[in-house]
Amino acid sequence: MAKFPVEPFKIKAVEPIRQTSRAEREQVLRQANYNLFAVPAQDIYIDLMTDSGTSAMSDHQWAGMMMGDESYAGCRNFFNLQEAIRSITGFQYFVPTHQGRAAENVLFTCTVQPGQSVPSNMHFDTTQANIIARGGKPVNLVAEEGLDPVSHAPFKGDIDLGKLEAYIQQVGAENIPLGMLTVTNNSGGGQPVSMANIRATGNLLHQHGIPFFLDACRYAENAYFIKLRESGYADKSILEIAREMFSYADGCTMSAKKDALVNIGGFLAMNDELLYERACQQLILREGFPTYGGLAGRDLEAVARGLWEGLDEQYLAYRIGHTKYLADRLLEEGIPLLEPAGGHAVYLDARRFLPHIPQAELPGQALSCALYVEGGIRGVEIGSVMFAYEDPDSGEMLYPALELVRLAIPRRVYTQAHLDYVVESCQRIYARRQELRGLRYTYAPALLRHFTARFAPL
Ligand SMILES: *Cc1c(COP(=O)(O)O)cnc(C)c1O
Repeated sequence: MAKFPVEPFKIKAVEPIRQTSRAEREQVLRQANYNLFAVPAQDIYIDLMTDSGTSAMSDHQWAGMMMGDESYAGCRNFFNLQEAIRSITGFQYFVPTHQGRAAENVLFTCTVQPGQSVPSNMHFDTTQANIIARGGKPVNLVAEEGLDPVSHAPFKGDIDLGKLEAYIQQVGAENIPLGMLTVTNNSGGGQPVSMANIRATGNLLHQHGIPFFLDACRYAENAYFIKLRESGYADKSILEIAREMFSYADGCTMSAKKDALVNIGGFLAMNDELLYERACQQLILREGFPTYGGLAGRDLEAVARGLWEGLDEQYLAYRIGHTKYLADRLLEEGIPLLEPAGGHAVYLDARRFLPHIPQAELPGQALSCALYVEGGIRGVEIGSVMFAYEDPDSGEMLYPALELVRLAIPRRVYTQAHLDYVVESCQRIYARRQELRGLRYTYAPALLRHFTARFAPL
């Protein structure tokens, strides 16, 4: 056995990437108003902004693209996708969407009334924003160890069941149209949720008559962690584990841009026929006819094939191992991270990396800018820029518990040498971290601020 994760694939097509000079990068960053979302991708060397929609598709998926049936209604690729979704999730009904947030939009439009709450272990930014956009309240109840950046608990994505129970008592089940779990917990470091926690969450919500949905973007990576870490699952296949995870829920939202290894696509799946009918109405209004839902037939085929590929155990061993390799090398250099490594990303802990920069001066954003200037590397702030918000009741600014820079790893895209380059760049910044300064906003929109905000250095 090699001491590092070895790729279970070889490379058939290559895409050139370009290194720039430090002076060029400083200029680019100024022009982008210190927001890496505004930097043209051609000026990035290693792009770790997201693992979403950035996967390299397989030859099998590309071959499937040529089998796209572009009929408006009832294309054959829809039925292939239906077969994959039913077989893997067990959910009877689904609507395809162009990506995960469209599935969220349809779901919350059908279910959430103004003033109602949607509890979860931790909502992702688009989920949080889609609930707020319906006048609802997103509530994060992740267990205590999930907020401790150095705890090595095996399932730091678990929801705190005591808090969930207390929350249901406090606001009343009638004010909770659904409960959710995000697997793996993206905003909380890509940490997995245990099967025991998924089962207990389903039971608790159902006792109160509340439907339970999974935000299933990384369900396959979560299933692999369950196999590695939870007793009783070592001998089960990833497919069996995934099926059990879904069996406790009433439906799921899915961004296929994650564990289905495609560049675009998503779906909303459920067992409730009435909800399905209402979802179809919303889908036709927003996305398209229920057998294509905002995608081309060829895209549906790539999702169907990608769902199966994402469950392959050799692939998942490489995938999770590749991420862990980056985390281990950074830890060897003494760089503060959210530990242990999550499934899809390594999260630099900006609070411990830059203790001299207070949260109001956006240490995560400062660190992500430094990474770009140093190595042409693009990560994404997951901290105050993404999540701080003004409490509508008190008017006080509420800051998130974690201040992170996420280095998300596109699936099957970068090699180990690329990861080593990232480690060397982080090491050089860490050596001169005292010189880094915070930032202030020059423009900050109300919803999903991080995508379009502008900054200036302090
Ligand atoms: C990416 C993501 C979403 C949203 O999906 P998009 O395809 O980007 O719209 C929702 N939840 C989680 C946990 C995600 O990672």
